[in-house]
Amino acid sequence: RDWGTGPAGGFTAAALLDPHRTAIVDELGSLTFDDVHRRSNALARAFAELGVSEGDSVALMCRNHRGFVDASIATAKLGADILYLNTAFAGPQLVDVLEREQPTLVVHDEEFTHLLEKADVGTSVLAWTDGDADGHTLEALIASQPGDDVPPAERHGRTVILTSGTTGTPKGAPRSEAGIDAAVSLLSRMPLRYGWRTHIAAPLFHTWGFAHLALSMLLGSTVVLKRKFDPEGCLAVTQDERCDSLVVIPVMLQRMMALPEETLRKYDLSRVKVVASSGSALPGDLATDWMDHFGDNLYNIYGSTEVAYASIATPVDLREAPSAAGKPPYATVVKILGEDGQELPTGEVGRIFVGNGLLFEGYTGGGHKEVVDGLMSTGDVGRFDENGRLHVEGRDDEMIVSGGENVFPKEVEDCLVRHPAVVEVAAVGVDDPDFGKRLRAFVVVDGDVSEDELKAHVKDNLARYKVPREIVFLDELPRNATGKVLKRDLDTD
Ligand code: ATP
Repeated sequence: RDWGTGPAGGFTAAALLDPHRTAIVDELGSLTFDDVHRRSNALARAFAELGVSEGDSVALMCRNHRGFVDASIATAKLGADILYLNTAFAGPQLVDVLEREQPTLVVHDEEFTHLLEKADVGTSVLAWTDGDADGHTLEALIASQPGDDVPPAERHGRTVILTSGTTGTPKGAPRSEAGIDAAVSLLSRMPLRYGWRTHIAAPLFHTWGFAHLALSMLLGSTVVLKRKFDPEGCLAVTQDERCDSLVVIPVMLQRMMALPEETLRKYDLSRVKVVASSGSALPGDLATDWMDHFGDNLYNIYGSTEVAYASIATPVDLREAPSAAGKPPYATVVKILGEDGQELPTGEVGRIFVGNGLLFEGYTGGGHKEVVDGLMSTGDVGRFDENGRLHVEGRDDEMIVSGGENVFPKEVEDCLVRHPAVVEVAAVGVDDPDFGKRLRAFVVVDGDVSEDELKAHVKDNLARYKVPREIVFLDELPRNATGKVLKRDLDTD
C-alpha cells in the first residue's frame, strides 16, 4: 500500500513490521506502534466526521506528547495537510497565521485555549487537558471509533512547518514527502540506528524536532517525549529512559551546561551515542564543554525550515572547530556564491546555497526562497575552510557596513561569548551619522566586567573596526520558542 514517504508512510511501515515495539514514551506511559496505528486510524475517522477531508488542513498547537503524534498521523492518513503552530505564539501572530492558513480543524493543548479564543477558529479538539474538559478531546474521539485500517487517501498530505519568525511573521513552508533519500543522507554522517531510544527535547512543531520524529518512525525507534523542557529534567529523562540519542536546540545545551557541576555529575549519559543539535549556531566553546562532560557524542546540523538540512558537523569536526557547521552529507550540495552568482573559492565569504531532496515547495502565503541552478538560498552567509567544513557567518541581511567595512555581527558575538564573564550576547547594527551603521552589543554577564574590558577583549582578537561602539548589559536576551534571539526586540534606536 502506498502511504507516501511522509511520516505516515514511515510510521505505517514500522507499525506493520514491528507492531509490538514501543513507539512513544511520554508522561502518560508508553504506546506500541500498533497502539499508535489503531489510535491514529480511530482519529482519522473522527476527524473525517468533524469535516476534514483530502486537501483540507488541520492545525496543531501542542507540546511534545502522544497527541502530537496521533493527530499528525491521523491527518496524513486523510490526505489532509498538517500545520504546526509554534507553542510560543503571541495572540496577534497566531491570528495572522490562522487567518492566512484557514484550517478546517484546530487540535491544541488546553493551556493554549485562551490564545486561540482570540482567533476565529471553527472546530477545535483538545489534545492535552489538565483535568476534566468540556468539548472534544483526542482521547474521547479515539475511544469513539474503531481502530482498524482506514483506506489510504489518493493525495499525500503535506507537512506545513512554520519558520521561526525571527525576521517577521512566520511563513508556512510545506513539503509533501519526507524523502527517503534525505533520511539516507542524514544517516550517512549521523549514526542513528533501528530500534534506538531517542529523547526528542527540541519542539516537535519545528523542523528539527519534527525531522527526528519522522526519522524515528521510519527507523522503528522509540521516541521519548516530555511536554516541557527543563535542564535537569532533560538529563534525568535521557538517563532514566536509557536513551541512545538526544535531540536538542543549542539553548537547551546551554541551559544544561549552566547547571552546577555537582548536578551535572549526578547524571550518567554514557549510553548516549548521538546528541543532535540544530536550529541555531553553537555559541563559543559550548560544543567542547559539552563533550568534555558527556563524551564525544555531539553533532551540529545546519539547516533551515526551507532547505531542511545543509551540513553536519561530527564530534571530530567539533573538536577541531567547535562552532563549525560541518560538511554537506551524501547527495547534498552546498555552494558559496558571490554577488553575481559565481561560485567563490575556499575561504571566501558569500551567500550559502543548498541542493538536496528536501527543499520546500514555496510559502503557503505566496513567495519562495531564491533558487539559482536548482540550489536554494538559506538566507545566510558563510565560507568553507581548507578542511571542507562550512562556517556560517550569520544572516545575509544582518551584515552591516560600518565606515565602509563589512561586519558580520555573529563573528563579534562569537568573540564576546568567549570572554569568561559573558553568558550570552547579541550584536546588531544601529544607524550612525558618521559611519552609516555602528555595532551595538547586548550582553548577559555573570560576574563583574566593565564595558571597556569587553571592548578590549574584542580588540585583542578581531580587527579594530569590529569592536562594538556600545555594549548594553541586560538580565536576559529576548528569545523565541526555538531559542533564537529576537534581535528585532532589542533596542536599536
Ligand atoms: P524566519 O524565516 O521566520 O525569520 P528563521 O529563519 O529563524 O525564521 P528557521 O528556518 O527556523 O527560521 O531558522 C533557520 C536559520 O537558523 C538558518 O538560516 C540559520 O541562520 C540558523 N541556523 C540553524 N541551524 C544552524 C546551525 N547549526 N549553525 C548556524 N546557524 C544555524
